[in-house]
Amino acid sequence: MTLSELLPSLGCEAADQLEPGLWPQRTQLGEGGELLFAGAPVSHLAARFGTPAYLIDEAQVRDAARAYRHALPEAEVAFASKSLCTRAVLRWIAEEGLSLDTCSAGEIAVARAVGFPAERILLHGNAKTPEDVKAALEYGVGRIVLDSLDEIEQLGSVAHNAQRVLIRVTPGVSGETHEAITTGTEGQKFGFSLRSDVRDNVDRAVAAVLAQPSLRLVGMHCHIGSQVSRVDRYEEAARRMIEVLVHVRETHGVTLGELDLGGGHAVPYVNSDASFDLDGYAQRLRVALAYECSSHDFPLPRLTIEPGRAIVGAAGITVYRVCAVKRGTRTFVAVDGGMSDNARPSLYGAQYTARLVGRRTKAARTPMTIVGRHCESGDVLAAGIRLPDDIHAGDLIAVPCTGAYHHALASNYNLVGRPPLVSVREGNATLLVPRETEEDLLRRC
Ligand SMILES: *Cc1c(COP(=O)(O)O)cnc(C)c1O
Repeated sequence: MTLSELLPSLGCEAADQLEPGLWPQRTQLGEGGELLFAGAPVSHLAARFGTPAYLIDEAQVRDAARAYRHALPEAEVAFASKSLCTRAVLRWIAEEGLSLDTCSAGEIAVARAVGFPAERILLHGNAKTPEDVKAALEYGVGRIVLDSLDEIEQLGSVAHNAQRVLIRVTPGVSGETHEAITTGTEGQKFGFSLRSDVRDNVDRAVAAVLAQPSLRLVGMHCHIGSQVSRVDRYEEAARRMIEVLVHVRETHGVTLGELDLGGGHAVPYVNSDASFDLDGYAQRLRVALAYECSSHDFPLPRLTIEPGRAIVGAAGITVYRVCAVKRGTRTFVAVDGGMSDNARPSLYGAQYTARLVGRRTKAARTPMTIVGRHCESGDVLAAGIRLPDDIHAGDLIAVPCTGAYHHALASNYNLVGRPPLVSVREGNATLLVPRETEEDLLRRC
């Protein structure tokens, strides 16, 4: 039995604290159970913009971008736009001096719409379409990351001006994360394998690029996965990648000056999640690269890293309204959103926490399951969440850590309009993306 179960009133107080590290830094508890998000009362934002709504703390996104630049001033930090791609967000990213990872003509179009400097853009993808490549070449993106022999030939025939390219390899390092977001190991679709028996794959790719006068090979890329908290996984990837650069020098006689180690840095969603030690990562990566380079007498390459989630994930929350509470062997709290605005629980079994917002209550807390409105029993947003027993229809619930891969992964399932994205800064809210209307939906039906 926990202390809060023994002393229900104390339990209320304890439950009223925000779990440290999970809520955006500028989120605070206000009077009467109010939650202040970057200075704005969440219940006011819910009334003004409706629910569900995605809220994002602009200052926290900028802080995270600065923290990366501060921790690794010698590196190029490219924000993975797939995690949250809107014009305003890309403007903040550009203003903070970061570069940008894209993987489609659509993402390039958003970057272009805000005048994101083309030389600071990278294009990724294991199946780039002719439209993606056309958009990249027209805008003049700095680098294209090659993922297959087919692509090398296709790009070689249309590129111009010695397009700078990197080759993506699979370093055989596991990020020890969910299978669907593991990308650095054998047997998944990305990159050229480094396994010894197929190593000539990489050699063939290098030779193919060097044979294309329209392409200029500048470096190697890898991305070991997402939601990776172990810094030693990155050290290992860095060592292996330097070996690749050394091998390319020996075999092909070219010394490549760029190393892109991808992103994937973890963000805690629930108390039991490990967080990512950015300063430890920076220091240990620096030492590993310096050691490996000096032992092979190889010049230190220019480093690029590609965080997405770690820049925007913890800066966002989602606000829902409770539609119904069903009590039985389990208590279900059904809200007005679900898997259409948060696909991660159903895609990867992701876990979340949540809290009641906007009113204070002395009711005891019991574990409840927060479910969405969609026609699937797997539409569960969060399970085992201790919510007050008097929770009822009309209450507001907030879920933290929804800045990355929420707006980006949202769907229209059940023809539910996607939620708005609202940025808040010093108490002032700005509607970045409006809620989808029936008119929007009818254009596709
Ligand atoms: C998804 C992806 C990233 C960003 O991953 P996060 O987990 O959001 O940091 C970076 N680089 C590549 C190539 C990716 O596919």
